[in-house]
Amino acid sequence: MEYLFSEKGMRKIHRLCSLETLFAFDFDGTLSKISARPERTQLARKTSGLLKSLGELAPVAIISGRNSSDLKPRLNFKPRYLIGNHGIDELEWEKFLGKSTRQICRSWKNQIREFLADNKMPGVELEDNRFTLAIHYRHSRDKRKVKAAVLGKASLLSPPPRIGLGKSVINIIPAALPHKGDAFRKLIWLSRAPSAFYIGDDDTDEDIFALSLPRVLTARVGHKKNSSAGFYIRRQSEINKFLQRILEVLNNCRPAKRKS
Ligand SMILES: [Mg+2]
Repeated sequence: MEYLFSEKGMRKIHRLCSLETLFAFDFDGTLSKISARPERTQLARKTSGLLKSLGELAPVAIISGRNSSDLKPRLNFKPRYLIGNHGIDELEWEKFLGKSTRQICRSWKNQIREFLADNKMPGVELEDNRFTLAIHYRHSRDKRKVKAAVLGKASLLSPPPRIGLGKSVINIIPAALPHKGDAFRKLIWLSRAPSAFYIGDDDTDEDIFALSLPRVLTARVGHKKNSSAGFYIRRQSEINKFLQRILEVLNNCRPAKRKS
């Protein structure tokens, strides 16, 4: 992993970026800070302004674990593609998933709710995203213990789910469901973009990082030894700096206005 703002990183960005490049972003922990109250998270005004400017020059996508209806009011701008629920929403996959996936998810939800009640776990919240579940434990007193207990419970669920770890959140995802990597690939196809960029901050984003597609550059928020991302930024607050750099590069790509 290389630092994105290193000479090498910037050289790669310059080479990759054009007005047709697809710029895709995760939301929580990437475009917005991780908040103690995820339900109150709002995109910072500066970041949404930069993304709006970027969207006027090139296609922009947001791919998040949140529902897209939950995501929309937090943005203050309209990206060309808004993909929720780890890539399940809005890519016409919903109609193929059918009742059984929803039933499986409902049965897991009941089992986990019962488990949380039996084990008295204050500060743990269960979020139902219809096709996936998210267990938030940011407010629990002993996070390590709660995480281990919930993971233990999740490993006993039937059929076995795919587990996606985020910051103080455990995502429970039916194994057969498309993941963020599938969504990203479909977006590249839909947008016909000749090159693409993606940045994210946690385990579910590794499904995109691991694709290793040609003409695709990936970055992670925070350095991590075993990540498949090509580059990293040190912290979430560097996202605005990155967006500014991209805008500078793209503005140089614009055709010069004709002199009258
Ligand atoms: Mg994230």
